Amino acid sequence: MAHSTNNQTGHICPHCKKNQIETIATAPYVRGLVLAYQMGSKTLIGCTPCVKKKLFGEAGKSMLLGWLSITSFIINPFLITWNLIQGATIKPKLNEVNNTLKNLGIPTNSQAVNITQIGYSLAACMIKADGKVEESEIKMAEMIGMKIFPDFNGQKFRSILESRNLPTIQSLTTLLKDVLNEEGKIMIFKYLTAIAQSDGHVDDTEKNMLIQLAIGLGLDTQKLKQTA
Ligand SMILES: [Zn+2]
Repeated sequence: MAHSTNNQTGHICPHCKKNQIETIATAPYVRGLVLAYQMGSKTLIGCTPCVKKKLFGEAGKSMLLGWLSITSFIINPFLITWNLIQGATIKPKLNEVNNTLKNLGIPTNSQAVNITQIGYSLAACMIKADGKVEESEIKMAEMIGMKIFPDFNGQKFRSILESRNLPTIQSLTTLLKDVLNEEGKIMIFKYLTAIAQSDGHVDDTEKNMLIQLAIGLGLDTQKLKQTA
């Protein structure tokens, strides 16, 4: 990365895999269920055209899926409008992108890889996957983390867990594919598998995340079976 300057993140957009990552946005959403509703937000990271497209896509999804409960019926128009405005006005935000990537353990401009930090980010994604954060899950992730990463720090892990700028597991793994070596990838995969198994069963969301992680990182699944 000899040509990278402070104006670049040095990472390829996980969506188009062509342009550089240059911006970040948080898209709130609500999905009505007949008797209840789910609210959440998605952090989108990528090149400006892709993040724009994703924001419009979120607005479109909300137009189709966001109306089925009274509460979501009231909230949805605001969220749709907000995502459309964000999409229309999105600009490169290199500083914010660089700070977020650094926080997630993904080096920008040829800094060293911090594999423990990457472990925090992916473990946080996993814990947050089912929409709720349980203290028992955090404790388990810390305990296993301390066995796998020599410099695991519970406080740092919790600060990542509280961060709002946590991209999806797909975006993260696409970024990590070229950052981690094979050994690092296996270490991260083992860590997340151990967290998923820690409560005695691996549910579908967790299984899905592990599969996405293995595919995203380009892990050799045959080899994984041998080392497991
Ligand atoms: Zn892109």
